[in-house]
Amino acid sequence: MNKKVEWDIIVPVKLPISLKNVDPGKLHASLLRDIPKGGKLHYLAADAWNAMVDAAEKDGIELKPTSAGDLYRSYDAQKSAFLQRYQLEAVVGTSTKTFEGKTWYLKKGMAMLATPGKSQHNLGLAIDIHSAGEKKRLDWLIKNVVKFGFSWEVVPSEPWHIRYTEGDAVPQAVKDWVALNPKSSSPFGSASEQKIAAEVAQKTASNLDKSGVAPAALSVLSYPNKGKDVKKLQNALTQKGFPAGSDGDFGRLTEGMVKKFQEANHLPANGIVDAETWAALLS
Ligand SMILES: [Zn+2]
Repeated sequence: MNKKVEWDIIVPVKLPISLKNVDPGKLHASLLRDIPKGGKLHYLAADAWNAMVDAAEKDGIELKPTSAGDLYRSYDAQKSAFLQRYQLEAVVGTSTKTFEGKTWYLKKGMAMLATPGKSQHNLGLAIDIHSAGEKKRLDWLIKNVVKFGFSWEVVPSEPWHIRYTEGDAVPQAVKDWVALNPKSSSPFGSASEQKIAAEVAQKTASNLDKSGVAPAALSVLSYPNKGKDVKKLQNALTQKGFPAGSDGDFGRLTEGMVKKFQEANHLPANGIVDAETWAALLS
């Protein structure tokens, strides 16, 4: 049993809908965002992290990851780190993990690591914070992590490891930050994605929106979204030969058509309408 500490704050992770049916460590690029000081996170965790970093900075606390590899970790990166720390040859008195059906022993002097695919880092939801155990920084984190949708996973031995727990229910403090940083809230984060978004918006204006009003940018859509953009999506699917109705409700029928369309266009058939899927739909 872990010792009870002041920061014994462990909230279970609610999985964002965009991560359902996604292989851990194999996230599509459209789900990831570059983080200012290096590394990538799932876009929901990215907003929450950037919001928290800004809030900490205002209080004179610097928050940064221990390294760029300690945010999102690909499956391969997690595997190579795992193989550095664990071995098949038995080591007396260390902890073990099961991976690929075998028992692996933690090498002496190494810190424990989740098996590949099992870490929240593989979902882009976890961050290891540099010098998180320093009293001033830890005190600030204790007061603030939950507000930004984060909490710890292993207490008290891993003060550095936090993960975003709130899924699609973005906490108010993050929404407030996003409202002041509209660029960051864009579903198309990187420069190249924003370029695609602009092209997509233009094409949408000419192809679909007969009213002539160009949408600012199209959102990333998935089940169970509703609204004007969903209607656009359904019309575009129908035009491409994937009849999806036109009720503005991203139900299971629309999701099925999106998957079929993605498959036919050699895109990951995940039912998520991201920049690439939009671009293919409107081409
Ligand atoms: Zn970690």
